[in-house]
Amino acid sequence: MTSLAELYEEIAACQRCDLAKGRTHTVPGEGPEDAEIMFIGEAPGFHEDRQGRPFVGAAGRFLEELLASIGLRREDVYICNVIKCRPPGNRDPLPDEIEACKPFLDRQIELIQPKLIVTLGRYSMARYFPNAQITRIHGRPKRIGNRIYYPMFHPAAALHQPKWRAIVEEDMLKIPQLLKEAEQLAEIETVTRAEQLSLF
Ligand code: URA
Repeated sequence: MTSLAELYEEIAACQRCDLAKGRTHTVPGEGPEDAEIMFIGEAPGFHEDRQGRPFVGAAGRFLEELLASIGLRREDVYICNVIKCRPPGNRDPLPDEIEACKPFLDRQIELIQPKLIVTLGRYSMARYFPNAQITRIHGRPKRIGNRIYYPMFHPAAALHQPKWRAIVEEDMLKIPQLLKEAEQLAEIETVTRAEQLSLF
């Protein structure tokens, strides 16, 4: 198993799709390797591409405000995107770009093992809630195994659509309780494993 640092090096050298040609930096993601919460956005924008860091523009500032509303700083959580390079003109990611980048996100999740995955916007939502509509399912968590998946509107969408702002703020406030539930699931699994081991 590689470490996150090794994975970041691999991402930096990636030539799997044409986005490699136009990028200034890859934007692998950032946060603690043992983060309990992972936020997955869409794709790097202008500022992210310049700095090689996720969510550093206007949407990022709003995400930081939302995190502060539940007593968290961005350093407390893991933040990344479905694709790691900026699409030209900030267009939506294409299916083959998402597919080419999928192994990187898969490995990030594998390494970090977050208890709660928060999807920001349609593209990360589609990984776990195929064919769902964000307007219907935002704020409604789903449990798969011992992990909780929680779909939210993208902060940039909320910045552009004032009517969604209050919804995003409200959805964010549910996260502390969801995290508690996710922690309990993880604890139950640890106890069950220990019990199973003691049978042998
Ligand atoms: N929007 C995203 O989805 N990701 C970023 O990193 C920045 C803006």
